[in-house]
Amino acid sequence: MLERLKTDILILGSGGAGLFAALHAHKANPQLAITVATKGLVGKCGCTRMVQGGYNVALNPGDSVERHFMDTIEGGKWLPNQALAWTLVEKAVERVHELENEIGCFFDRNPDGTLHGKAFAGQTFDRTVHKGDLTGIEIINRLMEQVWARPIRRLEEHRAVALVPAKDGKSLAGVLMVDIRSGLFRFVEAKAVLLGTGGGPTMYRYHTPSGDKSMDGLAMALRAGLPLRDMEMVQFHPTGLLAGPDTRMTGTVLEEGLRGAGGQLLDGAQRRFMADYDPKLERATRDVVSRAIYAEMRAGRTTPNGGVYIKMGHLGPEKVAKQFKGMVERCADCGFDLAGGLVEVVPTAHYFMGGLVCNVDTSTELPGLYVAGEDAGGVHGANRLGGNGVANSTVFGAIAGDTMPEWIGRNPGHRAPDEDVLAAELERAQHPFARKGGDLNRLRETLLDSMWDDVGVIRDKAGLQRGLVKLDAIEAELLATGVADGERAFNLTWHDWLNLRSLIKVSKVIAGAALKRENSRGAHFRADFPGEGDLATSQFTIARQRGAKLEISDAPVEFTIIKPGETLLKDAAE
Ligand SMILES: Cc1cc2nc3c(=O)[nH]c(=O)nc-3n(C[C@H](O)[C@H](O)[C@H](O)COP(=O)(O)OP(=O)(O)OC[C@H]3O[C@@H](n4cnc5c(N)ncnc54)[C@H](O)[C@@H]3O)c2cc1C
Repeated sequence: MLERLKTDILILGSGGAGLFAALHAHKANPQLAITVATKGLVGKCGCTRMVQGGYNVALNPGDSVERHFMDTIEGGKWLPNQALAWTLVEKAVERVHELENEIGCFFDRNPDGTLHGKAFAGQTFDRTVHKGDLTGIEIINRLMEQVWARPIRRLEEHRAVALVPAKDGKSLAGVLMVDIRSGLFRFVEAKAVLLGTGGGPTMYRYHTPSGDKSMDGLAMALRAGLPLRDMEMVQFHPTGLLAGPDTRMTGTVLEEGLRGAGGQLLDGAQRRFMADYDPKLERATRDVVSRAIYAEMRAGRTTPNGGVYIKMGHLGPEKVAKQFKGMVERCADCGFDLAGGLVEVVPTAHYFMGGLVCNVDTSTELPGLYVAGEDAGGVHGANRLGGNGVANSTVFGAIAGDTMPEWIGRNPGHRAPDEDVLAAELERAQHPFARKGGDLNRLRETLLDSMWDDVGVIRDKAGLQRGLVKLDAIEAELLATGVADGERAFNLTWHDWLNLRSLIKVSKVIAGAALKRENSRGAHFRADFPGEGDLATSQFTIARQRGAKLEISDAPVEFTIIKPGETLLKDAAE
């Protein structure tokens, strides 16, 4: 049942974080055995591939890393770890040069040869570098080719299920994985492991991330007793396509540029409503527009499928069709006329700002474990700027790739695993086979609705407490529900079960952290505590599992570079 493998570096996930880490680790020390293990296929899974808008980087005249930093800190409502945020904006410049000059990406250019930067909400400079609206495909395809060209081992369709500590419990020994194709278990012993499984808030009724993401990384980190921060911070994108319950297109993003170009939001009776919420109307930030739409939905002023409309036709259907070709075609596939008619939209869970606590060099509290990308916490605070997501995964993936070989140099040798933990984790992963099959689909639907209704865009104490009660009941029912088919090879019902287990575990942490934060910051809005609180004494939440108890505490944000009210820009007025 259990095969054992050894590698020097094990990378979990093949998104921007995982692939950059693999390339940098190989460059740092080509003698090291590097393995990329991923739930999907390298180059075809995760969210980096789905990046439409682009990559934030301060390159062009008039911009600066200081300006990018200030936008990131102010966008994150003063909650980001400033050392991480500074590293993000500073190293993004290097990474974009590497992407173009070493990895082989082509990004769109201005007539003078400089890289073209798009306007993205919440930023004071047009710095979002892109390849049309298919930036992620360009980045991930080129990264994939570079990984293929090197002796980097790939374990595709392998799911990590547990971080297994060394015998003395003081470091990580390796990772227990399921080979999805054969159903066999593999224990991969590694000197250093990167967690790059990409978060992904897919526990909400409407969501955008890829289907292979189910918060497995954070669920594993939690079980290993590691601290997670900012877990209440779920970013909702205001305009997810609402195409009815029977298509997976529902929830997918209709890009922000539509509102930027002058798109209008109308309620079910076709009344434009954003003036009731913000003077910037549809161009208000993502969190404000999402809350406005959600409030309209709660008030019952909805479209046939329960959302609101976006209207573009007044800008000229031909112009819209030309400017937003991909979006117009996607809507047409679902029977909607975006260029000339009305399209139903709904806020959709898009990105997870919370994650594993880490240092600037991507190390964590557990020696041997590193984290990068959407699994890492602290870079974005209460809000992620559009374009800072892929910058985050590539910047910190590369840093992890540089750091792990160095650490292995100082800490050579594999560490024998705690066999008791390994045996317990093997049993845990097979839990559903010992039980009678049940209706996992109904359980998933209940989870999606509970998170959407009680732990979603607008929260309050009563709703969060109700949500926690529901989550306990869903978890209890999952643990009593089995998988009818005992076959292990490609048993997707088993993997659905495992996905649900991770999602429920992390959902409870989100609800707990949201209950703990009694103010409203960025993506987190409490109707019973609508004020943002004192910025100068900002706290961030920390969640940690101790035995059966989930502890949620908070800690003060350290303003190591800049304090609220200050700016790094020489001429703030400018
Ligand atoms: C539709 C969409 C559009 C976006 N547009 C932008 C944009 O324009 N600009 C921007 O900056 N950001 C954007 N983002 C966010 C951005 O895509 C992510 O922040 C970033 O790509 C995450 O990179 P990552 O490497 O951490 O994770 P991912 O790229 O998501 O990769 C995660 C990897 O982990 C694997 N994995 C998951 N669970 C397991 C497991 N248990 N075992 C093994 N492997 C596992 C997955 O299969 C995958 O390979 C967008 C996201 C979406 C969904």
